[in-house]
This record gives sequence, C-alpha cells and structure tokens, in this order.
Amino acid sequence: MPYLQPFDPWGSELCSCPPKWSLNPYTGCGHRCLYCYATSFISRFYEPRIKKDFLKKIERELKAIPEDTLISLSNSSDPYQPLEGKWKFTRRFLEMLLDKKIRLLIITKSDLLLRDLDLLSRLKVVISLTITSKKISSIIEPGAPSFERRLYALKELKKKGFKTVVRLDPVIPGINEDEIKEVLSEVLPYTDHFVLSTYKAKPDSLKRLSEAFPDKRDLFKELYLIKGTLIKGSRYLPSDLRKKLLRPLIEEIKKAGKTFAFCREVLEGYPSKKGFCDGSFLLDS
Ligand code: SF4
Repeated sequence: MPYLQPFDPWGSELCSCPPKWSLNPYTGCGHRCLYCYATSFISRFYEPRIKKDFLKKIERELKAIPEDTLISLSNSSDPYQPLEGKWKFTRRFLEMLLDKKIRLLIITKSDLLLRDLDLLSRLKVVISLTITSKKISSIIEPGAPSFERRLYALKELKKKGFKTVVRLDPVIPGINEDEIKEVLSEVLPYTDHFVLSTYKAKPDSLKRLSEAFPDKRDLFKELYLIKGTLIKGSRYLPSDLRKKLLRPLIEEIKKAGKTFAFCREVLEGYPSKKGFCDGSFLLDS
C-alpha cells in the first residue's frame, strides 16, 4: 500500500476539509494522547515504529502526484513525535519537497519542528499546533511536549512570519472545558486560524479517559452513552452541550477578528464553509 494516500475522513459528511493527501512518516504515536481516535483502527498504536523503506518509497510516490498537491502531515500520528528526534523521516521528507511546488499542512503537538525552520522557511507551509490544556496535558497527552513548549513554538513561528493554526481540540466535558478558555487567551495573539472540536468518543479512548479520571466516569457515561449520538462510529455529545462548550471560544475568536472552523462537527447557527476548516486556505493568502 502507498504511504501517500488521499485523505479519507471515513466518509464523514461532517468533514469539511478540502481535497488533500495524507502522509504519516511513522506508524503509531509516542504522544499517547488518551483521547486519540487513531488507536481504534491502528494496532499497537502506542508502540510507534518506523515504516519500511519509507524514504525510498516516498521519493517514488512524490513523483506520481500533481505538482501543487496539498499534503497533510499527519492525520493519524504526529510527524514530530519522539521517534523523529532519532530517525528524521519528517525532515528528510521536507528536504524532498525543496524543489517542488507541493503545498503542505503540518499538524503537530511538538516544538521539535523548530529544528526544521531552515527547511520550513523555504516551503509553502501552514503549521497547525494542537494545544488542549495548560495544567493536565501531562495526564491527557503524557508523551507530548508541555503547554509552555508548544506556546513557545507558536510564538517563534509567528515571529518568523509563518501562518499559524491552533487546534483547540478536543474540548472534553468535565476535563479541560474551563481551562481551554485560558489556553485560547494565551495563544490568540499568535494564531491566524482556529480549529475547534469537542471530544468524540470511541470505546477505547472513553475507557482510557474514564480510567484516568474515575470521578468523571458517570458523567462520560451519561453524556456520551445515554444522551449522546452515534455518528460514523464515534459518539458525539448532545448538540446543545457542544454549542455550550464551544460558544465562549467562538465569541472570543470573533472578537479578535480571527477565523475559526469545526472539525467533523456542525453547530447550529454557525454555517461551515467547505474546504475551510483545516486552515490550509492560509497557503493562498
Ligand atoms: S499526537 Fe495525535 S496521533 Fe499522536 S497520540 Fe496524540 S492524538 Fe493520537
């Protein structure tokens, strides 16, 4: 199977991403986020590993796609997870793009990407940092860099003139719903576009969250399993609650004159524009 694949949001009509290709330089992810959805379809996900002949294969596959293709790096792993420190597959891939017109969207939780500013500054790229919590990121994303390191990376990127996206994703009821507002106020000045999303439960991620926060087990059960709705294999919160969680963030972002979109969800009163959500439109601005 090719490593470079057309992005497939599992046929979800709620996905408003533009057409793009997806690449994961590694299989699995060492950031080990409790809420991660990729664990439900990739085996041994928390045992990240390299891909066989990655560099050789990807060089060949790059030649077979149109020049200005949009590539998203990555949707089912983090391109700057700990393995990248040793193997540098992401860096090697960036080097391959230097003489191409490929448009790139990088989604990461790691400040390791600052290592590659020399290459990134020569590419057509938008960088999206996921930041979910100040106080409990070491619990919900135990293998990922701290809030402070991500904020530092965001500030550096802005200072160097990059277009930036922050994913406040996911907002989890009873877990980060209050402090996410604080996160937003800290990142707001350095962010061009926001992606917002509430946690969508899969059986394995819900189990991990319930084990890490036993006092919230009943709340999760009530909101997701009793009152929630099953959409394309994920359980969504009731729509009035999703609105309640995201509205304060939307109001702040609107006040600051920044753009926002939702990831795989629709909120009554906030029409979503097709092809707008992931922030890749910033490549053309
Ligand atoms: S960084 Fe992304 S892919 Fe990696 S564990 Fe966290 S949510 Fe999953």
